[in-house]
Amino acid sequence: MPDLIKVAKFGGTSMADLTAMRRCASIVSSDPDKKIIVVSATAGTTNHLTELTVEQSVEERKQIFIAIRKKHLSICKDLGNPALLIDKVENLLDALEAITLRKQIMTPMLRDEILSFGERLSSTIFTEVLKQESGDEVEWLDARRVIKTDDDFGNAEPDIPAISEAASKNLQPLLAQSRIVTQGFIASEPNGHTTTLGRGGSDYSAALFAEAVDADVLEIWTDVTAIYTTDPRIVSDARPITEISFDEAAELSVFGAKVLHPATMVPAIRKNIRVYVGSSIHPEKPGTWIVRDTKDKPILRAISLRRNQTLVKVHSLDMLHRYGFLAKLFQVLAEHKISVDLVTTSEVSVALTLDTDVNKPDNSMLDSEVLKELQKFSEVEIVKNLSLIALVGNNLDATAGLSGPVFGSLQETNIHLICHGASSHNLCFLVAEDEAEDVVRVLHKRFIKS
Ligand code: ASP
Ligand code: MG
Repeated sequence: MPDLIKVAKFGGTSMADLTAMRRCASIVSSDPDKKIIVVSATAGTTNHLTELTVEQSVEERKQIFIAIRKKHLSICKDLGNPALLIDKVENLLDALEAITLRKQIMTPMLRDEILSFGERLSSTIFTEVLKQESGDEVEWLDARRVIKTDDDFGNAEPDIPAISEAASKNLQPLLAQSRIVTQGFIASEPNGHTTTLGRGGSDYSAALFAEAVDADVLEIWTDVTAIYTTDPRIVSDARPITEISFDEAAELSVFGAKVLHPATMVPAIRKNIRVYVGSSIHPEKPGTWIVRDTKDKPILRAISLRRNQTLVKVHSLDMLHRYGFLAKLFQVLAEHKISVDLVTTSEVSVALTLDTDVNKPDNSMLDSEVLKELQKFSEVEIVKNLSLIALVGNNLDATAGLSGPVFGSLQETNIHLICHGASSHNLCFLVAEDEAEDVVRVLHKRFIKS
């Protein structure tokens, strides 16, 4: 039987220190099929690097840099300071220091270059850990030679044909001889400058690598043991899910607890690659398989809660020209690259939800410029502090008698918006932030636990 190809991704907490890295190395070395290892930056490092890009004073930037340097050199020290590794790590740190202390105007391009050091450092160190732990041939690969994107720095869009071409040239030949350790999150645009896929983007990178080599399995090793029926911090008897479909998992990753980066499922679905989510701390505990077709298809599989939602109600000022309003509205949003999650419409008004953008200083996607443009042709009302609750399962649009009991059990709750019918895999609605956890508890008890 030909070998399987597995791509394994380890997140930041899995790379936190040498003990954590050794656990990951033993997960890899126990399975000859794990060929491509995609790693995140060590825990907290991307946050530190982000601070470097906003901090104005050289002295403060210096302090942040020193913390990053100390953290990585201390892992090297625990490893016994192998001379070759120290050389590589010092070179990376020198390059980072040079950029950090230079007086310059911060651009999105420079920001991505700075952020890339987290994954470049962690992958360099992990390559050595894996070599020591497994005794195998291990090759370090610069992900920017394979993951090609457009030049939307900070949130770049992968160019799938370019990735496929680069993979056959720069990745496939290595695959035959050794395991490969590479970086999540980072990529490059056509001129060769470094880009990133957005925060949490390493899962997406791993899925893109899996797609590029036609992998059999994509493994996401993280700090939770599995995907749960709901957040166990909210409902203590939430259950781990053994098997879930691509479609359900995609809904959960978009609307739910952030176990997976929302785009992760897209390449997996395109190439029908099975995805496994498991814990690098407790690899023996059963995780969750995400597959095209599951054996059982319960009507309700999981309930997710997503906080920090903004509801935007847009009311047309021009009652006479009722056509073209939606087109105009979405054109403005598209021009500003604002992604809309849910939409409901009536004849002259539209309600839509936006996720809070953690990259924006005031956490809001609708900056005054966008607002001003919308207000040229509409009245805009904004409601904040809402949570989105999504019921995820199967055949939700075709199951008679579902919404009655669901909303019947929430009679006391003010529901701001309901989306039902667009997807057969989810039914979702908005409630006030401070009521959301109770709503999840009530629904989980009534519809999932029993
Ligand atoms: N290191 C990046 C971040 O913290 C990417 C990732 O971890 O997935 O966002
Ligand atoms: Mg992550």
